[in-house]
Amino acid sequence: MGEQQQQEPLLEVEQCVTSIPEDHEATCWGCGLRLVFSSYSPVYKCGWCGAVTQSNQTSRKPDTVCFSHWRRFRDGFFVTVLVLFMLFVICGGVWAVYPVVFSISIFCGIFHCTVAALLSIFTIASYCLASFRSAGTPAGIRWGSYPMVGKNYLENYTFCTYCSKPKPPRAHHCRSCKTCVVDMDHHCPFIGNCVGASNHRAFVIFLISVVTSCSYAAIMTIYASYHIWPPLVFPNVSSYGQMGSKKVLMEIITSVASSAFFLSARGIILVYLAFASLSVNAGIAVLLCQQLSLIYEGNTYLSHISSPTDIHGERGSRNLVRFFGCPYPLSRLLLGYTNTGKLQDNSGSKLL
Ligand SMILES: [Zn+2]
Ligand SMILES: [Zn+2]
Ligand SMILES: [Zn+2]
Repeated sequence: MGEQQQQEPLLEVEQCVTSIPEDHEATCWGCGLRLVFSSYSPVYKCGWCGAVTQSNQTSRKPDTVCFSHWRRFRDGFFVTVLVLFMLFVICGGVWAVYPVVFSISIFCGIFHCTVAALLSIFTIASYCLASFRSAGTPAGIRWGSYPMVGKNYLENYTFCTYCSKPKPPRAHHCRSCKTCVVDMDHHCPFIGNCVGASNHRAFVIFLISVVTSCSYAAIMTIYASYHIWPPLVFPNVSSYGQMGSKKVLMEIITSVASSAFFLSARGIILVYLAFASLSVNAGIAVLLCQQLSLIYEGNTYLSHISSPTDIHGERGSRNLVRFFGCPYPLSRLLLGYTNTGKLQDNSGSKLL
């Protein structure tokens, strides 16, 4: 018993000796200082400049020519398809719908001409802004040596191994655009550009204008198709009361299908435009809802994909207000104006 009691302290000493941590070293890419850590981690954060260093951080080889050509070809193909579709909906819609609209009244024709022109200009302008505007290249920043880089100067910056430059938090490198993009949402082949801090608003406005324009095009083409559709023939209409609902439905479908053979070229274009507008509208509406929901959550698509459970920012409708151009919530603006008004009244009374 006595021997066992004497051996216990020795075991504790042995455990203490074996648990002494081994130092791990890394060099901060941001300020060049040597970092010493008690435990191994694949990612280190510098206590001075705040830059994040990865242990396997080596500069990457540029993409092969074949890969770059493939991405350029893919973007060019999708942009061409989208531009041709927009032109087809605008020109085909005007050609097919407007004889019907002008046949109702001149005022009706002019009204729809104005609506169609405004929607077309708005859609094309927002597309050009989203497509040709830079998505948001990070600003140049000092890095590399200790005296030059101040305390917390590179807070949460990482190092882009493609560009060999500092990468701000929430920025990502796009291999298609060959640059880092601030607040990158995703690379969109349909606009041939990344969606980032500088063109995200234009991209969402483009989606809204596509949904509005496609809804308008679908309503107008369905209305015009109804007007120019050849007359339907129902040979057994007198015996519909005795027939089952399934047979009546079959009769109607057969009648509509047989009358479709007598559709003019204008009618065929109208039917195609109605189906195309409805299907594009459904796809873009889903994308728009996803975008608005991510903006509401204060998140981007890439951040959401990389860590779906993480909360990246404060969620709320104020994110949407800020995103669409108003930096302050509406209530604060109204309160501000009320306060300003009160102050002006007080100052006026003092002067009197
Ligand atoms: Zn550092
Ligand atoms: Zn980069
Ligand atoms: Zn890109």
